[in-house]
Amino acid sequence: MTAVAEIMDYEQVLERYDPVLGLEVHVELSTRTKMFCGCANAFGAEPNTQVCPVCLGMPGALPVVNGKAVEAAIRIGLALNCQVAEWCRFARKNYFYPDMPKNFQTSQYDEPIVFDGHLDVVLDDGELFRVEIERAHMEEDTGKSLHVGGATGRIHGAEHSLLDYNRAGVPLIEIVTKPITGAGERAPEVARAYVTALRDLLRALDVSDVRMDQGSLRCDANVSLMPKDIAEFGTRTETKNVNSLRSVERAVRYEMQRHAAVLASGGSIRQETRHFDEASGGTSAGRPKETSEDYRYFPEPDLVPITPSREWVAELAGTLPELPWERRKRAKDEWGLSDEELRDLVNSGALELVAETVEAGAPSGDARSWWVAYLSQQANTRGIELTELAITPAQVARVIALVAAGELTNKLARQVVDGVLAGEGEPDEVVAARGLAVVSDDSALQAAIDEALAAQPDVADKIRGGKVQAAGAIVGAVMKATKGQADAKRVRELVLAACGQ
Ligand code: ADP
Ligand code: MG
Ligand code: ZN
Repeated sequence: MTAVAEIMDYEQVLERYDPVLGLEVHVELSTRTKMFCGCANAFGAEPNTQVCPVCLGMPGALPVVNGKAVEAAIRIGLALNCQVAEWCRFARKNYFYPDMPKNFQTSQYDEPIVFDGHLDVVLDDGELFRVEIERAHMEEDTGKSLHVGGATGRIHGAEHSLLDYNRAGVPLIEIVTKPITGAGERAPEVARAYVTALRDLLRALDVSDVRMDQGSLRCDANVSLMPKDIAEFGTRTETKNVNSLRSVERAVRYEMQRHAAVLASGGSIRQETRHFDEASGGTSAGRPKETSEDYRYFPEPDLVPITPSREWVAELAGTLPELPWERRKRAKDEWGLSDEELRDLVNSGALELVAETVEAGAPSGDARSWWVAYLSQQANTRGIELTELAITPAQVARVIALVAAGELTNKLARQVVDGVLAGEGEPDEVVAARGLAVVSDDSALQAAIDEALAAQPDVADKIRGGKVQAAGAIVGAVMKATKGQADAKRVRELVLAACGQ
């Protein structure tokens, strides 16, 4: 049904327009209980087993605010350099949807708990880009609808729908940026980098498990274009629930190209929500965008205002962990990295793994090169994250130690790592089982050397006559005979000695 919209070549878009972005990120907090009731907040339970009169919207049920959720909201705000409101309220956002049994969402409207902050995000080339934060507010999640019988899982074409209210009332924080201007051609990259930086920050704060695939981190991407000669924002579209970092980038890029095609042909953009389609990389029209008047917001009468004391805020500021950018700076200083090395390390997602490998006794240079190069390749070919590889930092440190002790060459070490990744056990077990140890026993090497010298008598004569460069051919033959398990440097010494050099 999705009509393939006409899109403009990306280079052309940038010649004629400047993009403006707005990113809304919803994060589900990993509190023990829900936002306004004592129901468990856990992913994956049997449908409708984590519900009570409050989150089911029964008459007379009264909400109570989850203090831990307020605490998390303030900590997020502080980490985002925001102001914390001295006084704020919840508001009712009124609309009907079957997954929302109260017929309103308890949210915040013009009185968010934190506001006016910023987040500096690192782009792929290591440049920093500052994203201004408008506000972060507290609200509750809706339940989940499951549309059964259609081809797409969407409501259109479905035979019936099932409802699961386990998620209804789960604490959510919505973090909203100010309009992001000046990103130009890098707008799609900025969008991805921002969501990445925010995810890392929330993970460091330990307030959410930030799983985009499970919906605990969700991003809506607003995009509009300004013609180069007009300094006025264009009409935006809001692409909803883009559920991977890569999709955020693709959705923004696609919308820029689609808007440009519409505008250039004299059309106008309708303010609406859009769906991103992973398969085609395109978006399709959702619903026309409501205005806030449509929701008839009014202050929530069943909850008291939130008035975080300045002492409490200061106390919470003291609980902030080392934040990602501080962590990166410390790694850079401790390991003496160049900007480029730090960038590669951060981009590969290996910083913590390297740190743990160093903690397990490895030199930082070796630890970095294993994780950023060979292990990153292995994760790539398997299509998984580095952290999901079946090898631990301690095991990598052990392999590094074996190489340092001369018991493995780099080539053998990669085979050991392959063995560990294949589930063959600890590095030492793989060495033993696959017989990978370096042949360091001189007498074993001597036999291979004698054989090689006998097989190439002319080369042997040259070495005896003082042409030591000729030894390379013999060393090569010995390495081949020992399947790469000999220490080439030692072989060379023995070859030269055998020829009286
Ligand atoms: P809504 O209720 O429509 O979701 P929000 O204020 O929550 O509105 O979020 C809108 C987002 O879009 C914000 O990040 C805002 O900065 C951004 N935004 C506002 N106007 C534009 C525009 N013309 N183009 C792109 N983004 C915009
Ligand atoms: Mg919004
Ligand atoms: Zn409940």
